[in-house]
Amino acid sequence: MTRTILAYLLLTGLIACNGTTDKNKAPEHPTRIIFMIGDGMGLSAVSTSYYFGEQPSPFDMFKHIGLINTSSATHKITDSAASGTALATGTRTYNGAIGVDTSRTAVRNITEVVSEMGWNTGVVATSSVTHATPASFYAHVEHRNMEEKIATQLLDSNIDFFAGGGKRFFNQRSDSVDLFRTAEEKGFIIDTAGLDGAAPQPDRKYGYVLADAGMPTMLEGRGGFLPDATALAIESLSAGGKSFFLMVEGSQIDWAGHANDEAYLLAEMRDFEEAIRVALDFAEKDGNTLVVVTADHETGGATLSARPGESGGSNYDDIVITFSTGGHSATLIPLFAYGPGAEQFTGIYKHSEIFHKMVRSAGMDEPVPDAAAAD
Ligand code: MG
Ligand code: ZN
Repeated sequence: MTRTILAYLLLTGLIACNGTTDKNKAPEHPTRIIFMIGDGMGLSAVSTSYYFGEQPSPFDMFKHIGLINTSSATHKITDSAASGTALATGTRTYNGAIGVDTSRTAVRNITEVVSEMGWNTGVVATSSVTHATPASFYAHVEHRNMEEKIATQLLDSNIDFFAGGGKRFFNQRSDSVDLFRTAEEKGFIIDTAGLDGAAPQPDRKYGYVLADAGMPTMLEGRGGFLPDATALAIESLSAGGKSFFLMVEGSQIDWAGHANDEAYLLAEMRDFEEAIRVALDFAEKDGNTLVVVTADHETGGATLSARPGESGGSNYDDIVITFSTGGHSATLIPLFAYGPGAEQFTGIYKHSEIFHKMVRSAGMDEPVPDAAAAD
């Protein structure tokens, strides 16, 4: 009897060891993660890089590609809040939710996880910094429209750097509080004029809020805000050799899709690509930076169609962007990964898994709450 148990233990022990050895391809752990979200950026939007963009496309740099299902817990087609929350926390939730699950309970987000490891964290967006996508990375509120509360939570969060629009949620509030003053009392250096300033110092927190609501569109002359803010965030968050997690959002790709506006979409995509180039340049030099580029969903049902010919038929050598909806679509969205840990991101999977892959790649193990959720 004893011998049988011993033999069994030995055997299972050996099998366990074997299993471990097989899987023991030393995982690569990046010490910096740049997570870039093209809001509403489906494969057609990415494809414009190859027909309307500069060559070579920055997407050429990525060798590890995935396809992502972004359905929320309540809808086949997600909104940016539910998807942002899934990306930031690994938990699928109801459309409209920011950092809370379907029972409206706060769930831990990646900036909270990596802050415990001593990493700096930042968010950059071309919407207000309190808009659904960036908010999902630091706030916990029942609905995305609670932007004044989200702004308050930003200053109480672990975020060390933020840039985008949204002044009115800080200094034109229904409670008359001047949150910019509060921010400075909490140690932030706040700038509401522009990105130019002194070189970032280690261990300082920075907030750039440069428009009342969303930032101007590219067609209105936003200029280099997104790539410049990305570069400034990287410089600030890595000052003193620190590890960091940075979320960068091309927010208005989505707004162009809602507007079914081809020129707007192309301009916002070219701008987002500039920000990707900035991230990849840094990652290439740094060697320890994982860059993940994806979307929260597709917007507009955009297609790269042949322009209708003058005498009927289609001109297969002239591409026009057409749209099938003024809302979001259910199409799988692409994901691109570069750097240490990038190989984890290939395959077809749910957006909520991206959080777990990033957290694991950073060397942390988090429980997988979404695995228990009903499918
Ligand atoms: Mg967004
Ligand atoms: Zn949208």
